[in-house]
Amino acid sequence: MSQEHRHSPKDPACLEVFARLSEYLDGELPPEECAAVEAHIADCPPCVEFLENLKRCIGASREMQTDCRPEPMPKAMEDKLRAAWMQALARKGA
Ligand SMILES: [Zn+2]
Repeated sequence: MSQEHRHSPKDPACLEVFARLSEYLDGELPPEECAAVEAHIADCPPCVEFLENLKRCIGASREMQTDCRPEPMPKAMEDKLRAAWMQALARKGA
C-alpha cells in the first residue's frame, strides 16, 4: 500500500459500496445488499457522483458494442473513475 492517506477514503462503507458497484449495476446483488448500497449512496455525494459517472461510462461503452454481451469495464476507465471518486471523498473530508 503506497497510497497517501489523504487520497484514501476514510469511510469503510464507501469502500464496500465501491467493491459491490459492478454487481449492483448488473443487478446481481441480493435485494438486501442492493438496499444497503442504495441507503449508503443516498447519504454520500461522492458515491453518487461516482455511480453516475460509472453508469455513463458503462452505457457509452455498451452502445459501442455490436455484440449485446456487456464487456467488462476497461481497466483504464476504472482507474480514472476510482481516482475521481477518491478525490471527491477527500473533499468530503470524512
Ligand atoms: Zn460513500
